[in-house]
Amino acid sequence: MKAKDNPTASSMLKKHDLIVIAGAGGFIAGALARYFHDQGFTRIRAIDKKPLPEWYQVTEGIESVCLDLSDDYNCRKACEGAVEVYNLAADMGGMGFIERFRIECLRSILINTHMIEAAYRAGAQRYFFSSSACAYNVELQKDPNVRALKESDAYPAMAERGYGWEKLMSEMFCQEYRAERGLHTAIARFHNVYGPYGTWDGGREKAPAALCRKVIEAKDTGKHDIVIWGDGHQTRSFMYIDDCTKGIDMIMHCEKLIATPINLGSDFLISINDLVSMTEKIGGIKLEREYDLDAPRGVAGRNSDNTFIQKVLGWAPSTTLEEGMKKTYEWIEQQYEDRKAGKRTVS
Ligand code: NAD
Repeated sequence: MKAKDNPTASSMLKKHDLIVIAGAGGFIAGALARYFHDQGFTRIRAIDKKPLPEWYQVTEGIESVCLDLSDDYNCRKACEGAVEVYNLAADMGGMGFIERFRIECLRSILINTHMIEAAYRAGAQRYFFSSSACAYNVELQKDPNVRALKESDAYPAMAERGYGWEKLMSEMFCQEYRAERGLHTAIARFHNVYGPYGTWDGGREKAPAALCRKVIEAKDTGKHDIVIWGDGHQTRSFMYIDDCTKGIDMIMHCEKLIATPINLGSDFLISINDLVSMTEKIGGIKLEREYDLDAPRGVAGRNSDNTFIQKVLGWAPSTTLEEGMKKTYEWIEQQYEDRKAGKRTVS
């Protein structure tokens, strides 16, 4: 099957069906809200606990609501009348955040626990949960030359402490709501998502955005060095935001993927050192590298095995890292300039 033949929201929903998106003040859910809006859906309810002025994107024509979704009552309000519910709300960030704030990460279980019950009670037709590659067994990620992770590698379970275990438990909720109550649930395990309108400073940012910022800062300040977390040999794959929103839509509407966790990520593996070189090339500069071996660095290597998604959807994320990084760099450069000029920015 070609990607274009897969059922999507556009082929399955009426344009006035209510789509509820949790975490929409953040990066991915903000992009998802815009994605549905651009397809002509007229009733999108975007929700986040952050006050509206702090949202990364506020799209005109979308109902944007500030609610703390770790609260049961708020989740019921959020899901009222929903035909589809997408839960992407979580207290999260890059390695610097998830290794330091495990309690905050674990507490996100409250969000999914209440949201899925609220979606079920509201009679929603479908429920989406954003899981993570951090749900995979860390024992399989000790070598930079890792074999890519396939869906069955989550068990026997030894997920990332805190954040990964929360994802694994919430996945189980989705599976049991399907098994016991018949709710159509969908679960995607995202592998590092990056792109414009993501966090780029402040401690929650991930490697691609952090490296863009550091290169831009070095150019601006004339201090031509860069601090890299770890020895730079760690490997990862990175998915561009547009592939992520498209993938979410197809996964949510695929009858073969009900309550079935699936990788949503790029399978192009790159070391952090090579990602630094790519970012330097985009910025047109070469920097002196300093390695901070005490900084959080996460697992040694992680990649997405895309055999399953290719088989079921005939599609996998395909934006090249170079193309995506260029767009991300340009956006962060503009943000950097805006901040210097005293304008409001995302981070
Ligand atoms: P993000 O931090 O930009 O967005 C998450 C949003 O959830 C934030 O705006 C936050 O304010 C909101 N939120 C947190 N607690 C809330 C609550 N109690 N009530 C309402 N809103 C609340 O993160 P993101 O990168 O957009 O990630 C979205 C989802 O994807 C998360 O579930 C995350 O775990 C998952 N994920 C992301 C990545 C990635 O690379 N970005 C990788 C794997 C999984």
